[in-house]
Amino acid sequence: MEHIIDGVLRFQREVHPNNTALYRELAISQSPQAMFIGCADSRIVPEVFTGQGPGSLFVVRNAGNIIPPSSTIPGGVTASIEYAVSVLGIPDIIVCGHSGCGAMTALLNGAQALAKLPNVARWLHYADAALAAVNTDDAVDSIEARLQALVYENVLTQLDNLLTHPAVADAIHNKQLRVHGWVYDIGSGRVDNYDARIQQFVPLTAEAFADATPPV
Ligand SMILES: [Zn+2]
Repeated sequence: MEHIIDGVLRFQREVHPNNTALYRELAISQSPQAMFIGCADSRIVPEVFTGQGPGSLFVVRNAGNIIPPSSTIPGGVTASIEYAVSVLGIPDIIVCGHSGCGAMTALLNGAQALAKLPNVARWLHYADAALAAVNTDDAVDSIEARLQALVYENVLTQLDNLLTHPAVADAIHNKQLRVHGWVYDIGSGRVDNYDARIQQFVPLTAEAFADATPPV
């Protein structure tokens, strides 16, 4: 913890005073470029691997980068999506999975891995469709291949869940919102991006802009 406190003090001493214009602006309002829904895993730092600073990303992170489908059950993800779309008017939502995801590993390992984690088990039910897709694919046999496939499938499942939220569906229909499905590889830094036109993940590049938004 001392290391973290040192970091706060260093930020107050060295970073904040050198960016006074930025923080004066941010003190009044925010206008983020995108919402980022990712895993709570400590290795996934969206601002770092996307090269962004304060004010740029509206971030929600949880175990497994899960998005519960729209319902009347109160939830932090649901409320944050509604606020980001309806109040902040964010133009893009990125749903990002990652390599070596512990939540996806637990989901793969099933009841045994989750025996003492009843809340994690219930939470991961929101990814059941992804698990079913991997389990019915005979081409995916090794544990590593199944985990990798599940990480990618889970991004697609959560994109489906995202589209059930009325604010999201309306904004897409009005061409005010795009959605993106990413998988970040921790070891290499590579990001794969779902291209809805060809229904495949492709490496993220500057040349070809692709997203996961369904046609309206
Ligand atoms: Zn994870």
